[in-house]
Amino acid sequence: MKHSLAFRILVSIMLSAVAAPAALAQTPPFTRQDSIRGSITPERAWWDLTYYHLDIAVNPADSTVRGKNTVQYKVLQPHQRMQLDLQPPMTMEKVLQNGKPLPVKQDGNAWFITLPESQVAGTVNTVEVHYSGKPQVSVRPPWTGGFTWQKDSKGKPFVATSNQGDGASLWWPCKDHMYDEPDSMLISIRVPENLTNVSNGRLRKVDTNTDGSKTFHWFVSNPINNYGVNVNIADYVHFSEKYQGEKGVLDCDYYVLRENLSKAKKQFKDVPRTLQAFEHWFGPYPFYEDSYKLVEVPYLGMEHQSSVTYGNGYQNGYMGYDLSGSGWGLKFDYIIVHETGHEWFANSITYKDIADMWVHESFTTYSENLFVEYHYGKEAGNAYIIGLRKNIQHDAPIIGDYGVNRQGSDDMYPKGANMLHTLRQIVNDDEKWRGILRGLNQDFYHQTVTTQQIEDYLSQKTGRDLSTFFNQYLRDTRLPRLEHKQEGTSWHYRWANTVDGFNMPVKVHLNGKVQWLEPTSKWQELKGSKKTLKVVIDPNFYIEQSTPGV
Ligand SMILES: [Zn+2]
Repeated sequence: MKHSLAFRILVSIMLSAVAAPAALAQTPPFTRQDSIRGSITPERAWWDLTYYHLDIAVNPADSTVRGKNTVQYKVLQPHQRMQLDLQPPMTMEKVLQNGKPLPVKQDGNAWFITLPESQVAGTVNTVEVHYSGKPQVSVRPPWTGGFTWQKDSKGKPFVATSNQGDGASLWWPCKDHMYDEPDSMLISIRVPENLTNVSNGRLRKVDTNTDGSKTFHWFVSNPINNYGVNVNIADYVHFSEKYQGEKGVLDCDYYVLRENLSKAKKQFKDVPRTLQAFEHWFGPYPFYEDSYKLVEVPYLGMEHQSSVTYGNGYQNGYMGYDLSGSGWGLKFDYIIVHETGHEWFANSITYKDIADMWVHESFTTYSENLFVEYHYGKEAGNAYIIGLRKNIQHDAPIIGDYGVNRQGSDDMYPKGANMLHTLRQIVNDDEKWRGILRGLNQDFYHQTVTTQQIEDYLSQKTGRDLSTFFNQYLRDTRLPRLEHKQEGTSWHYRWANTVDGFNMPVKVHLNGKVQWLEPTSKWQELKGSKKTLKVVIDPNFYIEQSTPGV
């Protein structure tokens, strides 16, 4: 999740009959701050994150956060300046190494810390960052980052964080770039009495403090991306089940508002069947050690690692709406399926740069189709994913700008998913395709990746050079068109509206008979065809479908 799915719904409702693409988005100007935030600066590159201990008090009464983050790192190259990120109005009070305060210089959202002690390659050191403030309030969670401070129907605090894109540094100091993840993390959150905090991983212990407040210690034993780290505070009630999965018993824990317990017990039945479908297609759930959780929040939802957040109103569809218009989108709870799909694509396989966000959203939107297929059959899955095409805008390429924390078009959801569905048609072997999806999850397990790694992997495993295929769908906004014409008993065809060298094979039905074509931009000829040739392009290929003769 992230970005304007809600906006897309509105657009699709209002403009579904209008075929004209939106005007090309203007390239926004990038600032020096964008580069500091979005690139692997020299002050980031020399050290490798190994562990965080985030230890804070969250106070709903005055919307403040106060505490410290202990950052443990391994020195890769000796260097004396370290960049950590913390966005105003949050402020660093002091930074310590071995008990000694360090000089700190703020530059916008970045804080440059001078380390007087020598940083010897291979050693593991820590800095302790003390900080406080009133973190940014999210205006439109989860699409804008920050805290959400709400109340439940009894007037008790109902608080959550969401910050994909805008950055975890909105509320805690960290290395706010996706290429590097700590190997594990301890999250200690102090909250007022009678409230529960749920974060990522497993609850290690709860301390009761002398003032009646409680500190919840959650431990994540796997690498975690920074936007996945989250705080959820409410008068939660808890129920649980055990899922017998591919890797053994998976603990599934559910935290919901007291008033929603009975609705949740019914609606969350979608969890085991989601896990079942995705383990079939992608392999074992990637965080057995950290358990699976679904946590109610005061916003739509987000793929927080091992604590998926939920606010879909205990109804099927996307807030009750079928994004595909096929009817199949109302057979399941969109947020449970979509956000759980992200455990494989986002949390286990994670982009290094948000420009490659399609690795999260295209695969995860595609996972909705695989869920539908697993439970309702292949035709249903096809109808679902083909139905999503009406949401495609063709406004800008799916891949965004590198090094400046800038994602590409929201087409990464429906168009990227249809690209993968098209690739499956090319592979034309369902077991092989499933093997490739499972292979991705094995070979890039718990890694941060670039689009190139994923593209190369798919080329290699399909046995086809897919470079122009990906250039077309990820780096261009045009939709390929299969042009064809009849001349006597010869039938001619070619690709148009494509990038140079586009050579995707395509399946057509010629007078009802299946024919695989290998078109290029040059006209090719099929001899000996009937004069009245009825041409039907397989609708599962995402190309222009209404192709008149040329
Ligand atoms: Zn998503």
